[in-house]
Parts: sequence; C-alpha cells; structure tokens
Amino acid sequence: MIINTVVEYTRPVKILYIEDNNASRLLVQRVLGSKGYEVYVANDGLEGITIAREQQPRLILMDINLPNMDGREITTRLRSIPHFANVPIVALTANNSPGSRELALAAGCTGFLTKPINVSQFPKQVEDFLQGRIEPLSETERAQHLQLHAQKLVERLESKVRELENVNKRLRELDQMKSDFIVLVSHELRTPLTLISGYSYLLEENLKRAEKIVAVESLSNVAVGLNLGVARMQEVIDEIINFSRVAAGMLDLSFGPVSLQALFNDIEQEFSKICEKRHLSLHMGDFYHLPLIEGDGNQLRLAFSNLLSNAIKFTPDGGHIYVVGRTVGNIVEVLVRDTGIGIPAEEQSRIFEQFYVLGSIEHHSTSKHAFQGGGLGLGLAVAKGIFEAHNGRISVESERRDLDNLPGSTFHIFLPIKRQL
Ligand code: ADP
Repeated sequence: MIINTVVEYTRPVKILYIEDNNASRLLVQRVLGSKGYEVYVANDGLEGITIAREQQPRLILMDINLPNMDGREITTRLRSIPHFANVPIVALTANNSPGSRELALAAGCTGFLTKPINVSQFPKQVEDFLQGRIEPLSETERAQHLQLHAQKLVERLESKVRELENVNKRLRELDQMKSDFIVLVSHELRTPLTLISGYSYLLEENLKRAEKIVAVESLSNVAVGLNLGVARMQEVIDEIINFSRVAAGMLDLSFGPVSLQALFNDIEQEFSKICEKRHLSLHMGDFYHLPLIEGDGNQLRLAFSNLLSNAIKFTPDGGHIYVVGRTVGNIVEVLVRDTGIGIPAEEQSRIFEQFYVLGSIEHHSTSKHAFQGGGLGLGLAVAKGIFEAHNGRISVESERRDLDNLPGSTFHIFLPIKRQL
C-alpha cells in the first residue's frame, strides 16, 4: 500500500527529521528510506529551518527535546512561514509525560508519536499524516496549552536574554582586558626603549669627546645599560610570540624524554641570582627519583619559568619558594609553592586566561622581578597551554590575597610519565 502511494509521485517524497540523537536519526532514515522516502536530517532547530526552506519537505518529524530551540518552538516558527502553514509536522519524542502531547499540538504539531518508534507501524503512521490525518485537540485544551506554550516561550526568551547579557558582559571584559594589554605592552616596551635611548645618547656624547681620553669604565657602563634595555625588549617580544603560538594552537613541540632534574637545575640557575637579590630562598626538591616524562624540554622549561617568575614577583623580599615533585600513579606532580601575597579564591579560575592581570594596571611596575612587578598577563595562559599540549594540567590553591598576613600560593602541575615502549 505504502509503496503504491510513494510510486504515485514522480519524485520521492521528501521528509525532514529534526533530531539531535544520531541513533534515532539513522533508524528513521533506514526505516523510511526502505519505503522509498527521501529523508533529510537536521541536528538542531536552526539547521532544521534552513533545510526545510531549501528542500520544502512534504512532512516534518520533530524531536521535542533539542538543544537551543526545542521542537515546539521550531514548530511555532515554521508555522509562521506561509509555505509550512499546512505541512504536517509530527512530534516524535521520548517525553510521554502528561500534557506533552497537548502542548505539542497547541504549538502547531499535527500529531504526536513516541520514541522508540515501532518499526513495523511507523511507515503507516507517517503515511497517514501525509494523507491528511490531524490529531484532534479540543478548543479548551488548545487554549489552555497555548497559554502554557506562550509562558514557556517567554521563560525561554528571558533565559536567552540573560545568557546573551552574560556573554556580552564577558566580551566587554575581554575587550577591556585586551585594551589594558595594549597599554601594558606599550609601557613594557617604552621603558627599556627609554633606557636604550638614554645610553645611546651617552655613547654619542662620549664618542664626540673621543679625542680626549674616554674612560673604558664609562663606555662599559653604557654597553651594560644598552644590553639591559635590549634584553628586556627581547623578553617582552618573546613573551608575545610564545603566547600567540599557544593561542593559535601552533606550538611546535618536539617530544622526547625529559629529565625534570636537568630541567629544574637549569631553572635554579636562571633564577638564583634574582632570588639572591630579592632575598628570597629558593628550595629545589630532589628530582632524581622521578621518572622521565615525555615532552618538549624547552617548552616545559618556559612554562615552569613563568611559574617561578610569578612566585618571585608575588612574594615579598625575605620569603620562600619551594619546588618539589612526586609520582602519583603514572603521573608526575610538581608543586610550585610560595609564601607570597596569594590569590583571591574568586580569581583563581581566571588567572589562567589570556590577558588576565589581577589588580589595577596603574600599579604595574615594569621591572620584571620586582615585588608585584609587571607582566603582560600572558605567563599563566602560556604555561597552561604548554602543559595541556603535554596532556597535563595545572591548578592553583590559595586562600586569599593578603599583603599583610601572606597566605602564599601553590601551583600543582600534573604531567603524564613517559610511556615505556
Ligand atoms: P602576569 O604577566 O601579570 O604575571 P600571569 O598570567 O603570569 O600574568 O598571571 C596572572 C595574574 O595571576 C597575575 O597578574 C597575578 O595577579 C596572579 N598570580 C600569578 N601567580 C601568582 C602567585 N604565585 N602569587 C600571587 N598571584 C599570582
């Protein structure tokens, strides 16, 4: 019977099924496909409306619980398009709770079928709706449920407006963070540039007096000053380049076995001088007993350097910084702990975001390792990106920010151990 009906049309009858569940889509496609129907599928409401406009199906099967717009909302929307005013739209849902049928019909559905479909009866049910079957709904029930449907629509609208407001607020914050970032970068680059231009001027002056005897000592001071300025500019530019690689997912990692002992020896060397200068005690644990990890040594060194750099920046003179490691199952955990000013609980998830600088940027000091010294707000985002590219992760623990009774901060880094082949 069904076959005869389908054969009557020169082209196969088009049916659109709006459904987010892959298994349901496949089943319906197979069952109706075997009867000669051409079944189009859409994953959500917006895609469904687009396909409906393009393909102009003779019947639409509509899941009710869908992401974004639900099936009733899509139906109401489709009914407002003249072409779909009378096209059968059949709800096909697992939600059989009391009132759901009436609600679907009030929203504009022609019929209501429940999932899972009965494979042998389903083609006949679809055929009936194609032939003009409309499930009845009394006027009183329609009015009642239409009101409920309208209420639900308004509730959804309200929650969507709130959602958009939050997203908007977040975008404005990000925009502000980016503007602050530009101010910080200009500030960070201008300071060493002032240093360089001052020393270049001195050099020029010295050279003008070159016929007279120029003290080697004074020229050497000029060279030190110039190099300092250039090195700082190089650091700032490197930091931006590293960040842009992480942000673009373009970290060029070359994996190999990495010894954490060797890595932290390098880091200890890198920071020992500045710690001495700032009267900070750097306590490095023993990493010999830890297994090798699979990773990119240079990138991991950069990530841990960023953490150490922060520990130094946010710990007042006389404080302590501890770096220790341990094995937990097939994971190495490294702890970077300081006795510094701490991080407020509500900011802890945000500090790993790009451009996030806690505190006012007006108090930003451009000296990289001074107490509360400057940074671009990229250090932790870069570190997080590098650890994640190693299938690792980073988290932070701190009670609060308190400049008087220093609570300290502890960063936990988890990295998978090199797999033994
Ligand atoms: P920045 O370049 O500003 O240091 P980061 O991404 O490295 O940027 O850090 C983001 C923010 O997290 C910092 O501005 C700082 O307020 C906070 N922070 C990071 N590490 C620490 C730490 N060890 N102690 C206290 N605050 C920290």
